[in-house]
Amino acid sequence: MTYQSLNPATGQLLKSFSETTDIELEAKLSAAQACFQTWRHTSYTARATIVTKAAVLLRAQAGRFAHIMTLEMGKRIAEARGEVEFSADILAYYAKHAERFLKPEKLNPSFGEAHMESSPIGVIFGVEPWNFPYYQLARVAGPQLMAGNVLVVKHAGCVPQCAMAFEALWIEAGAPAGLYTNLLISHEQSDRVVDDPRIKGVALTGSVAAGRSIAARAGHNLKPSSMELGGSDPFIVLEDADLDHTVKWAVWGRMYNDGQTCCGAKRFIVVDALADAFLEKFTSALKALQPGDPLDEQTTLGPLSSEAALLQLLAQVDLAVEKGAKLVLGGKRIDRPGFYMQPTILADVKPENPAFRDEFFGPVAMFFQVKDEEAAIALANDSDFGLGGSVFTRDIARGKRVAGRIETGMMFVNNISWSDAELPFGGVKDSGYGRELGEMGIQTFVNKKLIRTAKLEAPV
Ligand code: NAP
Repeated sequence: MTYQSLNPATGQLLKSFSETTDIELEAKLSAAQACFQTWRHTSYTARATIVTKAAVLLRAQAGRFAHIMTLEMGKRIAEARGEVEFSADILAYYAKHAERFLKPEKLNPSFGEAHMESSPIGVIFGVEPWNFPYYQLARVAGPQLMAGNVLVVKHAGCVPQCAMAFEALWIEAGAPAGLYTNLLISHEQSDRVVDDPRIKGVALTGSVAAGRSIAARAGHNLKPSSMELGGSDPFIVLEDADLDHTVKWAVWGRMYNDGQTCCGAKRFIVVDALADAFLEKFTSALKALQPGDPLDEQTTLGPLSSEAALLQLLAQVDLAVEKGAKLVLGGKRIDRPGFYMQPTILADVKPENPAFRDEFFGPVAMFFQVKDEEAAIALANDSDFGLGGSVFTRDIARGKRVAGRIETGMMFVNNISWSDAELPFGGVKDSGYGRELGEMGIQTFVNKKLIRTAKLEAPV
């Protein structure tokens, strides 16, 4: 049974779901394809009516959607409500701006006239992770549905109730049959979906391994794809940073979503002058977090999403220590039901230690002390990942200059890697390719077609 809802705060199985059969899958793909034939010709106004309605419904029922999420993947309830509201913002953003983003663009050729038109390309296949169970879906649904494409989505195996709640949202919003379809399918079925000629593009958010597998498949089929993969974001602290401000962001950057964020701050790179003071304040802030029921508003440390995720993280920490890292804080499972891990800090992680290149997907921070700005930049860039990163300094011009030299898709000066509906999100290197959100997020799966018109006279 691949699709299971299990409460990470207790370990209790809530519900199991049967996988979509091959016969059901065929019917769903046919319905999506049929829907595309009419949806592609609808006006932006008609599309926006449905997408805006979905945003309104999501906002109105934020408490219910958040509750499902917290029970199913353990996100603390206030963060869960925030995610639902942000998902509504994303839908509303594309409903409002899609027509402008995709309007015909006049070009200036050397003779005649030319313009570019944007048209939808068909059924898009989304493969999405559990860590932001609605935001990830909104990130593809908003742009794709507004562009005139339709969506079939495979969500992660541990969040089937979130996946089904989001699908039901579209029906309630008045979407035609086949516009947004949730698929409870296996990896092998996913491969066949990528191969299916009705699928015209693939958007995956997830691990590097999943990205390699699905991107290779999409590439073999010559289908466009976007890959939003893992990260190990640097968090650079220069000697002129405001320490208290910086430590607050450090805690949030590492511990938001209980550390299970692709663009979470993971490598804390601090110059000599502030290193000791930063480590002391950061350690005591992490030590103060209180594990508890994520449904309780007072809880400051929630569980990890699954037993497997917890065991993997513990094994990574054990290996890091065995290979020479120093355990500054934590490192153990918390002795209570559910999948809780102590906030953890590793120091002295040398380049030959496997941890140096790993992504720690949970409440584990790596601390590095460096002599100056140049050393901080070199260390930040010594990573296979390139998603986001931060630099903290009182000198904004310096912050922007350092940010410009870091090899990532996004950099943030005096704040943490974050996403906004209107700003492009995505990475380079093993963090993938393509951008979601913002204007770029709607341009990946459209046909940018050139139309050139010559004067009515015979060619010479
Ligand atoms: P994951 O194991 O790669 O799963 C992500 C999705 O891919 C799930 O739906 C999963 O389905 C599916 N999947 C995995 N392998 C597949 C395969 N071979 N064929 C078809 N589908 C496959 O990742 P995760 O553990 O859920 O999420 C954590 C990772 O995602 C981290 O590395 C994190 O940094 C990254 N992430 C990146 C972003 C971003 O925007 N860059 C955002 C969030 C998360 P099953 O659950 O059924 O295996």
